[in-house]
Amino acid sequence: MSDVESTEASLATREQVLARIREDSRFVLATHENPDGDALGSLVGMHGLLTALGKESAIFIAPEDMPLPDEYQDFPLDGLISSPPADVAERTVVFLDCGNIDRNSASVLRDGMHLLNIDHHHDNTNFGTLNYVVPEACCTAEIIWDLMHDLGVRPSPTIAQALYVGLITDTGRFMYENTTPRAHLMAAELIEAGVDVPAVYERLYENVQPAKLTLLATALQHVQRFDSGELTISSLSTEDFSRAEAEESYSEGIIDHLRAVRGTRVAALVRELSGPDRKGQRKVSLRATDDAVDVSAIARAQGGGGHRRAAGFTTALELGELIVFLRSQIAVQLHASSDGRAAATLV
Ligand code: 5GP
Ligand code: MN
Repeated sequence: MSDVESTEASLATREQVLARIREDSRFVLATHENPDGDALGSLVGMHGLLTALGKESAIFIAPEDMPLPDEYQDFPLDGLISSPPADVAERTVVFLDCGNIDRNSASVLRDGMHLLNIDHHHDNTNFGTLNYVVPEACCTAEIIWDLMHDLGVRPSPTIAQALYVGLITDTGRFMYENTTPRAHLMAAELIEAGVDVPAVYERLYENVQPAKLTLLATALQHVQRFDSGELTISSLSTEDFSRAEAEESYSEGIIDHLRAVRGTRVAALVRELSGPDRKGQRKVSLRATDDAVDVSAIARAQGGGGHRRAAGFTTALELGELIVFLRSQIAVQLHASSDGRAAATLV
């Protein structure tokens, strides 16, 4: 089986990316806000790769993204920095798993001479000076894994474990449609390289904080279904979070329960955001159950983005307005093939 390759002409080739990595000696790595398993796994994997090549590498995570959620606190963040290095302009800045730079809390890094954008979101805005976007990759960690082969680096157990976290979180533990044969080949190779599989799963999915269960219970109480259940939606207010004594990240995974309900085409979880600069803002997570609805298109219409079956956006719309918006967007897409007029209004 051939390795994944970028397909679009406007994108950088793997050779160009490899050349940049070989040529430069100093790097700084960044990812999107609220970094998830793939974001962190890719950061740690890339840092390990560069370090193995004898390069100087720093991992930038913005102070507002720290501390990391509990389940990610085992990540070995050697070389972590929380402000840009003084010589940032002379370094190659590598953005990992970032669909667009606005979603990046590392915007302070955007002025670098060389911005290497490595990602697997099909709607990546190509904000880098070198854009290596591989939508066929199930996770950004898979792209790092490929680069590692090309550069002749064998993953240490630490790198293997980091990449494995990216792999299992972005494929939903080998459940989503992006679970390719390569995803399993990658898993096999990483396990051979030293991943402690049960320890990783336990860390990520067990040892659940009781407050997380309370938050889930609240979200399940707030479920609403529309249009024969085509849209299954729930919402959590800031009071729900404080009553449950839950942190923001505890809502991770709730949406999987909504998507699993029979008849659902789109699942949505709406979270009210807290903090002075985010008051009145809501974060919307979207999931599609099949390819009939592209939720990334719905998210883009509100300034967000993501994958066809998993996307999100932040909005000032009230819950009621959001429901109206989502129902109409879903209707347009589901009935677009039989209604040309509706298709034309799809953003
Ligand atoms: P989640 O719902 O788990 O937060 O995000 C699911 C997917 O949607 C992520 O992989 C991410 O790519 C995308 N996503 C979520 N929120 C946003 C957003 O505000 N902007 C963009 N561009 N993508 C988002
Ligand atoms: Mn990803």
